Order: sequence, then structure tokens, then C-alpha cells
Amino acid sequence: MIEMLAKHSSNYTHAPYWLEDTSVRAAPATFRHQDLPASVDVAIVGGGFTGLSAAITLIRAGLKVALFEAGHLGSGASTRTGGMLGPSFSKLGVNGLERHYGRDQVHASIKESLVAFDWLVKFIRDEQIECDLQICGRFRGASHPSHYAGLVEQANQLAKIVDFPAIEVSRNEQLQEVGSNRYYGGLVYPTDGAVQPAKLFRGLCQIARTEGAMLVEQTPVRTVQKQNGQFSVRFDTGQINAGHVIIATNGYTGGAFSQFKRRLIPIRSAMIATQELPESVIRSVSPKLRCHGSTERLSAYYRPSPDGKRILFGGRAFGRGDRPDLYSHYLRNFMVRLFPQLETAKIDYAWSGLIAYTFDHVPHIGELDGLHYAMGYCGSGVGRSNYFGRKIAQKVLGLAEGRTTFEDYPFKGRPFYYGNPWFLPAIMKWHELADRMGL
Ligand SMILES: Cc1cc2nc3c(=O)[nH]c(=O)nc-3n(C[C@H](O)[C@H](O)[C@H](O)COP(=O)(O)OP(=O)(O)OC[C@H]3O[C@@H](n4cnc5c(N)ncnc54)[C@H](O)[C@@H]3O)c2cc1C
Repeated sequence: MIEMLAKHSSNYTHAPYWLEDTSVRAAPATFRHQDLPASVDVAIVGGGFTGLSAAITLIRAGLKVALFEAGHLGSGASTRTGGMLGPSFSKLGVNGLERHYGRDQVHASIKESLVAFDWLVKFIRDEQIECDLQICGRFRGASHPSHYAGLVEQANQLAKIVDFPAIEVSRNEQLQEVGSNRYYGGLVYPTDGAVQPAKLFRGLCQIARTEGAMLVEQTPVRTVQKQNGQFSVRFDTGQINAGHVIIATNGYTGGAFSQFKRRLIPIRSAMIATQELPESVIRSVSPKLRCHGSTERLSAYYRPSPDGKRILFGGRAFGRGDRPDLYSHYLRNFMVRLFPQLETAKIDYAWSGLIAYTFDHVPHIGELDGLHYAMGYCGSGVGRSNYFGRKIAQKVLGLAEGRTTFEDYPFKGRPFYYGNPWFLPAIMKWHELADRMGL
């Protein structure tokens, strides 16, 4: 314990690094639940990217929208994320997906993943949201000699379906991309990007609020019941009627929405941010200031902060609860194993949040029990949540643009699973072992 604490700086904070920026720390303008009208066209449950994106699309179509957030707006994963942005193809790979769903559906959703990425980049630019958007590219390292061929094979398969460039980087050349000898070559995806997620979130809140969405904080929705063709949305201090309800609770989906909870596997993901470091040290880790990941099952993801002064390093946390005492130590050791040059770097920030996996490794969108939903982004949710939020709103509006190939994937749970992933520790152990064996 003493050794661990010594690695933290005197400024150590158990909070997302993103909120250091004072421009995003000020509370967004919210709506008092006492002032809510008796009914709205659409009630949205969950105040993250999905909910905000849906709210903006609906309010712009002239609907009356109330969004309910259990905690503070953005207090879920959306301001805790690494902010890495890409098309997020499923980790099952082209072959894996095709085996389950057939060629046409899989190719269509791979193409749509790229559309989703392009849409968000364009939206941020059109709306002039200041969120440090950078098309910095991403390096994905092969963590085992046998993984390199698989990475290249995967890129070749994708290239037959979409225009998604990937540059091969051999082990001999990799120091130009990453300052670690722990990889066996890798690929660069030059069109991937990154954002400062809390700034993006703040920008969405400003648009939604200015254009008339009622954003209600500290108001967990307890039940939603259908009565006389309307939904009654109940919270501790009252209720509101709504023509439609959107569930946008992702990794934080609770018992009030058990039909979704039992289809999702909530997993905690954590990040640390180093103290400010000289540019030479940052570039010794990421010479081209890119985002980074690897082929390991329990892989780490990392990037320089948008100002290029810190390394932000993320990976697994431990258990369902928030245990910075465990994960900050684990992540720092992981980082130093990859980058011994960071041995003396102290940690200023450590934080975590919940993501939602699905049993089939694809995100889901659609309607269940009359409730609209978009969720299950499997850890790659910055682009997906914003895009799916818009899509689900278009569905509520009955627009043809609301059609998405992702609605064709059946959203299934498992028998006797009710949302408590008791099996995760065993799966994590298996992944740890598989990583050590290079499987
Ligand atoms: C540490 C970490 C790093 C990540 N890194 C990346 C990354 O680099 N790139 C990437 O693409 N993705 C990343 N992700 C994933 C991404 O952040 C999420 O997929 C995305 O933010 C999900 O957005 P959301 O709006 O659907 O859910 P959230 O932002 O989690 O919002 C859901 C909200 O619902 C609220 N809620 C739940 N129940 C109720 C209720 N009954 N009533 C009212 N409100 C309720 C919660 O309080 C929560 O605020 C990361 C996630 C984490 C945690």
C-alpha cells in the first residue's frame, strides 16, 4: 500500500481527468422536476451520450422532450471514457460475425459503422462543438508473434467491404509508432480519432437545453407503465405522462428495467492519467500522438491527453464496485511494463465507469415492451452512442432514416441470467491465462 501511494502525486484525485477543464466542470443548466409539465411527447431515461443525442434530434423535430438522469448529467460512462473514436467493428471479426448472421447483414453493419463514425465527426464540426476533436489515427499492436498475421488478415477482409485504410507496421518499424518493445508489429488505422469526451458532452447539453429539452438531474426513474395508450414515468417526487419512452441507460441499467438488465453484462473499465510530462517523454510513448490498443484479451488502451502533456491509460477494473485502490496500482504497473520510461511518472487521476457488453458482442437498438432502447456498445461507445441516440429518435419520429442494420441482430439474454454477471471473475481468469499463452 505504501509503495502504491508513493506513485501517486500530491495532486492525486479520484475523478476523471476530463473534468479538470473548468469549462466543463460548471453544472449544465438543468430543469427542476417541480416545473415539469403533466405530459411530454418523449421521456428519455439516462443522461449520457445516447440520451442527449436522442433529445437533440427529437427537440429539433419539434417534440416536447424530458430527459431524466439518476445522478448528475454525464455522470455515467460518457464523461469517463477514453474518448477514442473509431468505427468500432465487432471484436468477433468479419468471419466470426458472418458465421452467426450471414454475409449480407454483416457487410451492411460494417459499412454502417463507418457511416456512424463519419456522421459524428461531421456533426461535431457542423455544430462547432469545441471538444478537441483530432483525427490522430490509432495503432493496434500485436501482443504475441502469432497475432500479427491475424491483424493483417482482418484488415484485408475489411478492405474488401469498406474503404477503411490500415497500414502494416512490422516489428522493425514499430518504434516509429509506439515506444515499447512489447509488441510484435501492428496496424495503424490513420482515420481514427479522439475527442475530449466531457467537452463533447457539455456541447450536447448546451444544444439540447438551449433548444428546449428539459434535462432533469438527480431523478432516477423508478417505473414506466403503459396506461391508456400513454406511458406513466414515475420518479420519487412524482410522475409524468409520455407518448414514447427511450431507455438510454447502458452499463447503468438497473432493476427498474429488468428486461434490458438481463440482456446486458455490466463491466467496469478504469483509467489513470499521469502527471504532466515533458514532450520528449510523451513522444517516447506515442511518437505521433495517436490512440493505442492491442490484440490482448485484457488489453490496455491509451493515448496522450489532447494538450499532449499526459498519458491517459485505461484497462480493466476489478469487480462491480469502484476500487481505485486496486485498479490504479494494476494500471500503473501495466503501463510501466509496456513503457519502462514511465517508471518515475506519478499518477494524478484515477477513475472508472461501467460499460455494457452483450452476449453476441454487437450493440443493440430497437423496441421492447413498447420501450425504445439503444445500448450494449461493448466498450466502444463514443461513436455508437451518439449515432444510435440519433437513430432511436428517428425511429420514434417514424422516419425512414431511423432504419439501421443493427436492429436486425436479435437482442438476447441467457437462461437464468438476470443481470448479475457472477461468471465474470472466471472469464477474466481465463482471459488472463489466454493472454499469457498468446491465444
Ligand atoms: C473508463 C471507460 C473508458 C472508455 N473508453 C472508451 C473509448 O475510448 N472509446 C469508446 O468508444 N468508448 C469508450 N467507453 C465506452 C463509452 O464511454 C460508453 O459506451 C458510452 O459513453 C455510453 O453512453 P450512454 O449514454 O449509452 O451511457 P452512459 O453515459 O453510461 O449513461 C447512462 C446514464 O443512465 C443513467 N441511469 C441509469 N438508470 C437510470 C434511471 N433509472 N433513471 C435515470 N437515469 C438512469 C446513469 O446514471 C447514466 O448516467 C469507455 C467507458 C469507460 C467507463
